[in-house]
Amino acid sequence: MALRIMTEANRCLQCKKPMCQQGCPIHTPIPQAIALFKENRLMDAGKMLFENNPMSVICSIVCDHEAQCAGHCVLGRKGSPVTFYHIERFISEAYLDRMKIERPASKGKKTAVIGAGPAGLTAAIELAKEGYEVTLFDDNDHIGGMLYYGIPDFRLPKNLLTKYLKILNRLGIQFRPNTSFGESLRIGDLFRDHYESVFIGTGVWRPKTLGIKGESLANVHFGVSYLANPDAYELGDKVAIIGMGNVAMDVARTALRHGAQQVTLYARSKRIAASRHEMEYAQLDGAEFSFGYAIQEILPEGPVFKLAKFDESDKVIGYEEEPVLVPADATILAVSQAPKNRLLLTTEGLEANDRGLLVTDENGMTTVPGVFAAGDVVHGSHTVVDAADEARKTARAMIRYMEQEKE
Ligand SMILES: Cc1cc2nc3c(=O)[nH]c(=O)nc-3n(C[C@H](O)[C@H](O)[C@H](O)COP(=O)(O)OP(=O)(O)OC[C@H]3O[C@@H](n4cnc5c(N)ncnc54)[C@H](O)[C@@H]3O)c2cc1C
Ligand code: SF4
Repeated sequence: MALRIMTEANRCLQCKKPMCQQGCPIHTPIPQAIALFKENRLMDAGKMLFENNPMSVICSIVCDHEAQCAGHCVLGRKGSPVTFYHIERFISEAYLDRMKIERPASKGKKTAVIGAGPAGLTAAIELAKEGYEVTLFDDNDHIGGMLYYGIPDFRLPKNLLTKYLKILNRLGIQFRPNTSFGESLRIGDLFRDHYESVFIGTGVWRPKTLGIKGESLANVHFGVSYLANPDAYELGDKVAIIGMGNVAMDVARTALRHGAQQVTLYARSKRIAASRHEMEYAQLDGAEFSFGYAIQEILPEGPVFKLAKFDESDKVIGYEEEPVLVPADATILAVSQAPKNRLLLTTEGLEANDRGLLVTDENGMTTVPGVFAAGDVVHGSHTVVDAADEARKTARAMIRYMEQEKE
């Protein structure tokens, strides 16, 4: 394995203007990390990657590499690109195991982070590294957000998150699990208790419905709810999935691993929202795809569709008259998520747009002074690397805010 990684590192041309770095949303210093690695300075390379992106090891596994770092490598124009993400995983996993991270001297200022997904974890680490006393709250019992409760274990091993728990401990970040904000505790309570700023990284956890008949039937489930604990479900042999995004692909692959015999994903048009490689993996696992199926309602026997008519450019131009029932034991809706509205209902002055996503300024501050937000709760369902990048910038703005307040 190490030899293969080194062979890959040796292929890097050390470009003066590294396109791979430009293609990476968090601008990972790819040539520099590879150069350190080749000099046998594994820990220095790991430190560089972690300082730039505390979620480096996670990103090395779940980023859409073909569209980002690897997709921009100049070697890919005529042959195969350097697969930096393999090198990044090797370096960052080793670094997480062996890193020496010291708790800095305390600045005597408390800050709260709500949500322990990639956005909240990144913000908490950035703030703690600068000497702020961080309390990290989450309404679940494990850290990681969608890394733990969404992305299946066969794609992202959960033991990586245990390594992050150790980092939190070493940096003095205190984790309060099973603590939901907007219920017993509210954001106002944090200012009462002398927190000087608040970071919201609560993501999008409310499955969207379609507003059709049958959504409350016993044979109907939501994709993200299913992924949080697939063992709790008895789906039966035949599973219909409505939607063709990345979440739908994970649902399909998980259902097949939990004994479903026939899993079909349905989309109204011929457009696939998921990334190409996620779809290809789902296909390899045995999932089937049906296009031109517009869901009308769901019956105990299965979903009912109207079949689309397409023109030559695959545009939907109409539907067949007669709806069609497709027999299925379970129907899973995987058509996107929105934020829950607990924080909005309980925080005076906190504003959201018409999709329920928090409104922030260019520094990531919400409409409530001292309360910042980043990640999916601001932009809707995005990616881990985007959440980390934005949280890092927002944490810096929080520091500026707390230091200005002091003067
Ligand atoms: C099935 C699935 C597969 C995905 N696959 C990929 C992938 O392959 N690559 C990729 O880059 N991205 C992927 N994503 C998207 C990625 O996981 C998210 O963009 C990312 O996790 C967003 O990070 P976040 O920190 O903003 O929110 P989240 O990860 O959603 O974390 C939010 C946290 O806040 C907590 N919380 C919510 N409300 C409250 C409250 N009121 N009080 C306290 N805590 C609260 C939640 O419990 C959660 O822990 C996937 C998402 C899903 C659902
Ligand atoms: S963070 Fe993601 S896009 Fe950037 S180098 Fe790592 S794997 Fe590639």
